[in-house]
Amino acid sequence: MKGSKKILILDSTAFYAGIPFTSSSIYYTTPSVIKEVKHTRTSKIAMDSLIEAGRIIVEMPSIKSLEKIRNLASVSGDIEKLSQTDLEVIALAYEKKDKGFNVTIVSDDYSIENLAKILQINSIPIITKGISNIVQWLVYCTGCGKVFKDKKMVICDVCGTKLKRKFNLIKG
Ligand SMILES: [Zn+2]
Repeated sequence: MKGSKKILILDSTAFYAGIPFTSSSIYYTTPSVIKEVKHTRTSKIAMDSLIEAGRIIVEMPSIKSLEKIRNLASVSGDIEKLSQTDLEVIALAYEKKDKGFNVTIVSDDYSIENLAKILQINSIPIITKGISNIVQWLVYCTGCGKVFKDKKMVICDVCGTKLKRKFNLIKG
């Protein structure tokens, strides 16, 4: 569809690994993704400011779309590996595509990618991005200043301080 608006749908892994940051795209995600991501983050302010700035639109898909995606996932065998949050992300993408938007799901989850393929929705894994600017979570120690590549780290292995996270825009 020529000239249709480009939408990027973000799942939780997108928030952990880095959000592709382009000026022309609109970002969508679901309430449960925000809840999941916020739950594990000390820095809620960065995310809230992205929402307030209108960079990310939080939307819940309809029950009808959710049911359709759930059935499809049962048939494809992905249902066991998908959480309610994952199903919502795919359902939202499906809805937007149905309305004529140019939709891409940003996710590192294989089952999400698989369903996207079945629905003929574009998906991009975060690891193999061809994207120059990304917003990334920086995990760092307030005690000794060490920056961690492993986003799952909680305690500093040098000085034992609890680690903090912040949003960081990386220009490629
Ligand atoms: Zn430290």
